[in-house]
Amino acid sequence: MVLNPRGPRCRCGHFGCLEAYVSTAAVAPAIGIREQDLLTMGEGRAGRLKLSTRARGDLAMRLGRLGLAIGNALNLMPVRRVMVAGWPAEFGDEAHAGILGGIEGSLFGGASAVNITFSNAELGREPAAGIALATYAYLHRGAMQPEALAGEITTDNLTE
Ligand SMILES: [Zn+2]
Repeated sequence: MVLNPRGPRCRCGHFGCLEAYVSTAAVAPAIGIREQDLLTMGEGRAGRLKLSTRARGDLAMRLGRLGLAIGNALNLMPVRRVMVAGWPAEFGDEAHAGILGGIEGSLFGGASAVNITFSNAELGREPAAGIALATYAYLHRGAMQPEALAGEITTDNLTE
């Protein structure tokens, strides 16, 4: 998702992609640490780092952009529960407020109905850890409800 075509170069070859702002490769230097150090932190240690005012503002901008992207995705696929995996979990309430602010700015109808939870970061194992958690949550809630399947393609109308 390109947020700013004049933004930083992304490893995919484009400029200003979401990843160029919120990947651990982008966030770690912005808060003054090595990516490998961020990946090996845990238990909220990154969130307890003493950050400069500039670094804290930069982090807030990145969290806001992440929220903006999530809000845009929710405009296309409205769901109430959003699970964020990866480094934002390290920043607790600060990340929650930043992401929610971004969602508020981009989601039609605002962010009041959106419930964000963070998975405990499994830094260095993303996105596999986040996808596994989302799959578990989806199946745990009974997967797709039968009424949601109404109107789906069935084997009957495939033969026509
Ligand atoms: Zn990219």
